[in-house]
Amino acid sequence: MLVVKKFGGSSVADKERIFNVAKRCIEDYEKGNQVVVVLSAMGKTTDGLIAKAHEINPNPPKRELDMLLATGEQVSVALMSMAMNALGVPSVSLNASQVAMHTSSAYGMAKLKKIDTERIQHELEAKKIVIITGFQGINKYDDLTTLGRGGSDTTAVALAAALHADACEIYTDVDGVYTADPRIVPDARKLLEVSYDEMLEFASLGAKVLHNRSVEMAKRYGVQLVVRSSLNREEGTIVKEETKLERMLVSGVAADKNVARISVIGVKNEPGVAFKIFNLLAKHNINVDIIIQSIGREERKDISFTVAKQDLKETMDLLNEHKDGITAQNVTSEEDVAKLSIIGAGMTSNPGVAAKMFEALYNANINIKMIATSEIRITVLIHEEDVNRAMRTVHDAFDLAD
Ligand code: ADP
Ligand code: ASP
Ligand code: MG
Repeated sequence: MLVVKKFGGSSVADKERIFNVAKRCIEDYEKGNQVVVVLSAMGKTTDGLIAKAHEINPNPPKRELDMLLATGEQVSVALMSMAMNALGVPSVSLNASQVAMHTSSAYGMAKLKKIDTERIQHELEAKKIVIITGFQGINKYDDLTTLGRGGSDTTAVALAAALHADACEIYTDVDGVYTADPRIVPDARKLLEVSYDEMLEFASLGAKVLHNRSVEMAKRYGVQLVVRSSLNREEGTIVKEETKLERMLVSGVAADKNVARISVIGVKNEPGVAFKIFNLLAKHNINVDIIIQSIGREERKDISFTVAKQDLKETMDLLNEHKDGITAQNVTSEEDVAKLSIIGAGMTSNPGVAAKMFEALYNANINIKMIATSEIRITVLIHEEDVNRAMRTVHDAFDLAD
């Protein structure tokens, strides 16, 4: 059996945890399995590297930032291989260019395109545990790229797909996927199974337990995932196509604080305005989320939308620069906002779900700034300082607790 095992930053944060992971991998190896290990940078290394970069240059070139961030994962894999060596088990660490893991060119948000598997296969046949850097790749210029924060999950799933692995296990610092972030909602319940579609919504709406692209990829290639703790032996959560368990109306609540609102005020009420605004942003690779357009009044209307916090300044600069072209009278923004979402494949045909969510927020005196819905989720934009309280209130209203 070929197993891909991914361990996040907190699972390899220090010497004891590195040996803990090494031993868990060796257990599998000694049962006769082929073991591929994917690691993140130790603890908060990536945050530390980003802070260092900004000390030197508040706006570091993206290529150089990736060059820097890619070092974090390289430290983890080298130390892990040394730990396995100390325990008497043959292993080899490989970075993205040694593998090679080919990505698109976009530094900081590269997409995995193709993984060469020869070197890995060769090392596995030589009976070694193969330890690979998560989060990084190489582009067509042979430069190092990174996949976006949390991207090591995606590396693991991509490797599992490319190697036709029999299992892909994501080890983290919680026991699995819960009905809400267990650090914010202490009585959140662990889900035994969750479907790709629901997990994709969870991940895209802020539950960082899995990188959203890893779920997309798992769905596309049919890679079944297990999310579980590296610190205990609890069973974890299975992420797969269809779940046999009862369809919950609402399966969970997610929050995302990395969001800012922008309003383009008083644009002309005529064809092409929305196109001009969002085309401008698309050309600059700025992702837009919730979009609301007001009903036109006296030839004018407003368009509001959300972007990630780190894109706020660039977006405002762009819109102000093109104010005349997009016919705007004014552009405003708000940074201290957050998104709160409920997710559930069962809510499609249930009009009461939205009302119940809004009632819970009303009872907690929390004001809703924007609303967006899809077949399996409802998202509201609220004040950032209300979001943890809102999460607990809504979780309670839907009886999601243990
Ligand atoms: P790793 O470093 O292992 O990749 P992350 O910090 O990226 O770990 O993801 C794990 C964290 O995700 C948990 O510590 C938890 O706070 C958070 N989280 C958010 N939503 C959920 C959820 N619904 N279920 C479980 N964990 C969640
Ligand atoms: N080390 C990277 C990060 O902190 C990737 C990851 O942990 O998945 O974002
Ligand atoms: Mg992560």
